[in-house]
Amino acid sequence: MSASTVTPAAPTQPPAPAPHDSRLQYTACPLCSAPDIAVLRTGDCSRHPLYKPVIAPTMVWMRCTACQHVFTDGYFTDAACAEIFSSTNPNQQPGAAFEQNRYVSARIVERVARYVADGRWLDVGFGNGSLLFTAEEWGFEPQGLDLRPSTAAGLRALGVDAQCADLTTLDAPGRYSVISLADVLEHMPYPGEGLVAAHRLLREDGVVFASMPNYDCAAWRLLDAGDANPYWGELEHFHNFSRPRLYALLEEYGFEPLHYAVSERYRVCMEVIARRR
Ligand SMILES: [Zn+2]
Repeated sequence: MSASTVTPAAPTQPPAPAPHDSRLQYTACPLCSAPDIAVLRTGDCSRHPLYKPVIAPTMVWMRCTACQHVFTDGYFTDAACAEIFSSTNPNQQPGAAFEQNRYVSARIVERVARYVADGRWLDVGFGNGSLLFTAEEWGFEPQGLDLRPSTAAGLRALGVDAQCADLTTLDAPGRYSVISLADVLEHMPYPGEGLVAAHRLLREDGVVFASMPNYDCAAWRLLDAGDANPYWGELEHFHNFSRPRLYALLEEYGFEPLHYAVSERYRVCMEVIARRR
């Protein structure tokens, strides 16, 4: 749906913000702060399941000349976030497809457990909760964090501790042995802030698990070649990472990358385990 087809609001209601007001523009690279950024391409997000007419139907992707990072031209205002968060993908509800997701999560937990054997596991943006359910089977103490209140309530109803809060506001230094950021960093306006928080919240030998699309691989280029790459229109993403750029960011914020894997969670994604220095 294009913005021009939206029914005008009734005169008694305040006017809906223009689509271009739904994003706060980046004036510099959100990773390295270099001011030299240029438009890379656009993408159509109007057919995304969570699309709302308040959001511009075209996403503009930028590239930083200094560090090559790829990101959207802006991130959502609080009002736009509230609109998007008013609905949830069915596969992100706690307990969704729990048996199938258990197999996928088990392969993640097994790899993480090679580096940290026990302790509290914080999953940020836990969605269907599968990673926490499975981490508990390995003996970890699961705790979830999600920005959608209904999702947090849904996990608590299934017996797992969960809060509706932003990672950067948690005040529990050194509390966790594992923090998973599974498809989280690309949703944050400034991913470095998430890594600062993770570093503070992890115990000394704790590890972070991060997954996200990898835009610098053959599979991504093949999706592009077939004009079938969903990520240029992925409404909730502000960033496309390459493996080298992710590794450099982890190093910058005090993490040592230990392990790389291809993700089974979503298409063309990578998974990295990194230890807090
Ligand atoms: Zn940059």
